[in-house]
Amino acid sequence: MTQDSETMNRPVIRRVRHELKFRELTVTEVSHLTPHMIRVTVAGDDLDGFLSASPDDHVKVFFPREGGEPERRDYTPRRHDAEANSLVLDFVDHEGGPAADWARSAKVGDPLSIGGPRGSQVIEGDIAHWLLIGDETALPAIGRYIEEMGAGTKVTSLVAVPGPADEQGFDTAAELDTNWIHRPLDAATDPAPYIEALKAIELGEKTFVWIAAEAAVARALRAYMTDQRNVPLGWLKASGYWIKGEADASEKNIE
Ligand SMILES: Cc1cc2nc3c(=O)[nH]c(=O)nc-3n(C[C@H](O)[C@H](O)[C@H](O)COP(=O)(O)OP(=O)(O)OC[C@H]3O[C@@H](n4cnc5c(N)ncnc54)[C@H](O)[C@@H]3O)c2cc1C
Repeated sequence: MTQDSETMNRPVIRRVRHELKFRELTVTEVSHLTPHMIRVTVAGDDLDGFLSASPDDHVKVFFPREGGEPERRDYTPRRHDAEANSLVLDFVDHEGGPAADWARSAKVGDPLSIGGPRGSQVIEGDIAHWLLIGDETALPAIGRYIEEMGAGTKVTSLVAVPGPADEQGFDTAAELDTNWIHRPLDAATDPAPYIEALKAIELGEKTFVWIAAEAAVARALRAYMTDQRNVPLGWLKASGYWIKGEADASEKNIE
């Protein structure tokens, strides 16, 4: 692609604002989807009108704290069922942190408050191939992208998880090529295994690259994609979904 055609045809990230709503919900199901992922389904009439326009949307989830304001963390609305008024959230089971602690002890009947999504970034355009890269925190968004893609859409995923049992299957009409990296959670800040795996992945014309992982990894992968693989800036979106050693931290839309 020449620079000119790249600029003319570059995808658009359409920002959609939603009315900010807070919802009081009740846990209806809890399971260990995989060894490091806890799936929690919440439901309630407050989900009336819930809208999540993009797979990489997030809701704020509130966790009560004794004697203070609740803790708030970002989670991806993994699956919304408007008929059942239910919402699925997938929590990475990592050490420490009120969100992971809450998910580990969640049981049917527990209350849970969420806010949002406040806005969505919908990626649109003449995209021939999607490359979705991330760690386990990105799996809910990557799963949604894959499952919401139309028949024949070409999509490649590269996801780092602790082991084979943490891999997930997706129900999709898309033309999907899944790639997994296995590394322990305490090595989640190392971009090297991703870069090694990416060397074997062809991009082709009009590939949109979506990245979400620990912030240092997301930044390193963005740099690899732009500098080593010549991905134009308009064809890439990278976010740090968490920051090693910092609570309640992220770096959305790395520039
Ligand atoms: C847009 C967006 C969507 C997200 N969607 C999801 C999602 O669907 N599911 C999901 O699990 N996460 C998701 N995350 C990441 C999640 O918000 C963070 O991991 C969050 O910090 C977890 O909160 P906590 O209370 O468990 O830990 P915190 O109190 O925030 O952190 C405590 C300690 O744990 C470390 N830590 C935080 N997260 C991890 C991790 N994943 N692995 C290892 N160590 C960690 C921190 O560095 C810190 O040292 C998303 C983030 C963003 C920005």
